[in-house]
Amino acid sequence: PSREQVHNFAAGPSPLPTTVLEEASQGLLNYQDTGMGLCELSHRGKEFKAVIEGAEANLRQLLSIPDNYSVLFSQGGGTGQFSAVVLNLLSAHRLANPVPAEQFTPPPIDYVLTGSWSSKAYAESQRLVQPTFPNAPAFAAPRIAASSKASGWTRLPKRDEYNFSEDAAFVYYCENETINGIEFPSASNSSSDSAFPFDLVPDGVNIVADYSSSFISRKIPHIEKHAIIYAGAQKNLGPSGVTVLIIRNDLLVDTTAASKLFCVPPVPITYEYKILADNKSLYNTPPTFPIYVSALVLKHLLVEKGGLEGLEQTNKAKAELLYDTLDQAEQAGKVKCVVREKDARSWMNVTFTIEGGDDKEKAFLDGAEKRGFKQLKGHRSVGGIRASIYNAVTLESVKALCEYIQAFAKEN
Ligand code: PLP
Repeated sequence: PSREQVHNFAAGPSPLPTTVLEEASQGLLNYQDTGMGLCELSHRGKEFKAVIEGAEANLRQLLSIPDNYSVLFSQGGGTGQFSAVVLNLLSAHRLANPVPAEQFTPPPIDYVLTGSWSSKAYAESQRLVQPTFPNAPAFAAPRIAASSKASGWTRLPKRDEYNFSEDAAFVYYCENETINGIEFPSASNSSSDSAFPFDLVPDGVNIVADYSSSFISRKIPHIEKHAIIYAGAQKNLGPSGVTVLIIRNDLLVDTTAASKLFCVPPVPITYEYKILADNKSLYNTPPTFPIYVSALVLKHLLVEKGGLEGLEQTNKAKAELLYDTLDQAEQAGKVKCVVREKDARSWMNVTFTIEGGDDKEKAFLDGAEKRGFKQLKGHRSVGGIRASIYNAVTLESVKALCEYIQAFAKEN
């Protein structure tokens, strides 16, 4: 089939705007009449410098990023940041609290668990802070500040379920859980009991957020309350291979100096935020292709879409339409939404199951495939159905899927 005949609901890597891909394919062959493709040009040349600087400027404008934050382009995916935030922020914490090694007590790291990805980040933190030799202290004490695991990730923790430490090296949460389809309510809904409780985090404690699967789908409320926001590109931004970081400048610390003070592990050089910042994300060869396509997507959002406001309205409309359709089909006993709490339902990843067992689910997926609805199968760890409706998925595609769900409910 052609692109036009397919509705791609992939969770990531996920669809990109066709006009962007057309421009990128031209740029891959002959970038701005240089006779060379973008990926064949030096990352230190003036052409690529303009690409990466333009991407940063457009991102700053789209998200209104405050001046005291740096924008970095890193490698290693979202998973790389599970490790990098721990290592860099332990160094920053140690430099801010320079007690002698004998008096060192491992600082807590507070994790908010709302699904698979925050749980993976927590597991990586536990792995990294192990003592390096017998009787040595651990580097830190990762702990769970709140969790909705007991609900099977079908709701978010409520305000009275959070238990933050006074002296954590940082607090960590995942804004949108891609696998489970659960997301913190946006600023427009911040009075919800499920909204992230910034006011409960003790003053001065750094907050880190994984925004991989909701980045630039809507405005980010309270960037200034975060220490670090990061996102792998491969949902709304571009191809996989680049991870964007928005980081408060005082956290760009010399981790080599910190590790010499002991009780913090050294940070691999390409993961040190200060090294990345000092070198404008060009310490070593960056992933030029995903940065290039991301730059085109950012320009497209700013120039053609006129910023995030209109996009936010469209994304809201897409999610409401799909959830309304599913709620109706659920009342008829045909499907079941995974996330039971409406305020916590993701705008980006809509998860549901088909009632009636595996055969019915197969029938749903087979019928979907025939009609051009692609990549609807849920994550292999949870099964079921997941319709990811990122920025490049149109309202028309969502309407078409809703019609299919209604027809399927009627016939089965
Ligand atoms: N965090 C979230 C919310 C994700 O959805 C993913 C991947 O889908 C990751 C982290 C891991 O990212 P990566 O595969 O780029 O390492």
